[in-house]
Amino acid sequence: MSKTIAVIRGDGIGPEIMEATLRVLETLQLGFQYDFVEAGLAAQEKFGELLPQATLDAITKHRVALKSPLTTPVGEGFSSINVELRKRFDLYANVRPAISFPNTRSRFPEGVDLVTVRENTEGAYIGEGQQVSADGETATLTQKVTRRGSERIVRYAFDLARRTGRKKVTVVHKANILKSTSGLFLKVAREVAAQYPDIACNEMIVDNTCMQLVMRPEQFDVIVTTNLFGDIISDLCAGLVGGLGLAPGANIGADAAIFEAVHGSAPDIAGKGIANPCALLLGAAQMLDHLEFGDEALRLRTAIRATLTTRDRVTPDLGGNGTTDSFADALIERLRA
Ligand code: ATP
Ligand code: MG
Repeated sequence: MSKTIAVIRGDGIGPEIMEATLRVLETLQLGFQYDFVEAGLAAQEKFGELLPQATLDAITKHRVALKSPLTTPVGEGFSSINVELRKRFDLYANVRPAISFPNTRSRFPEGVDLVTVRENTEGAYIGEGQQVSADGETATLTQKVTRRGSERIVRYAFDLARRTGRKKVTVVHKANILKSTSGLFLKVAREVAAQYPDIACNEMIVDNTCMQLVMRPEQFDVIVTTNLFGDIISDLCAGLVGGLGLAPGANIGADAAIFEAVHGSAPDIAGKGIANPCALLLGAAQMLDHLEFGDEALRLRTAIRATLTTRDRVTPDLGGNGTTDSFADALIERLRA
């Protein structure tokens, strides 16, 4: 039986990079079926709502979605459709690989190959934890860390390491100062780590982690951490290897997983055919890993690397004069060769 994937073409450059990505996926001949559904501005225009029930139903049914960037109009009920999707499906793991690619004008065109696994549902980002006093003079933030939340994210990180042949998990924390919250996270992480004797584990305080990432990023393999630290560190890591055009992400829950590019809908270049499809393509590679097509994921990443190496038809953001389609074509030729 072939796998069906819910596909959201998205807004701005979304449809362009999605078309390129699906063409490339076709070359791998995995027999995927696609269920095209809408969200964001596209859905608003068609159905009068940003996140139609049919879209939620499709994600529930197929359990896997590939999503292009969405535009959330200001003042339309929720602050972000992406956040709303995370809540609806309890997508507790935000998984962001950062891999060096050549010719990307980045700080580290080689040597970086790491994944950050960020807890996505608790920590400092629980909405009800933020309060301002009646006189407006004092703001407080309550963080929430639970054993359950910590255990599932750390377990996810170790399972991911095992599944994808990675060797080490670094638990990033601030337990020396945030003794209760970060302390609980670290305690649970140690317990989980003990159940994975085949995967090395070390612990690192978040401030030191930032310095180490900038100085010697090659020492990291899988990083697992709480919501706020993960938010910051995952962007830092994207910056190490070339920024937005190359940064994919996955949001994973027990019942659904959504794969995407980290960047936004880039309305400034929409419709021009010059958007870099790499981030979404790398998101598709994550999806292949998730669906246990690890060999194909590797093939795809290798072909992307080769295409960037030869500077074949790369897009203007990477200094080339290619287009979304010419890059995809070069990739397809390489996958077929
Ligand atoms: P949104 O409101 O959806 O976030 P945005 O314009 O902020 O839209 P970003 O992705 O944050 O979109 O874009 C920031 C800048 O990076 C823009 O100038 C955009 O053109 C550029 N950019 C983003 N993604 C790509 C891409 N895939 N290829 C080329 N340029 C990109
Ligand atoms: Mg933006």
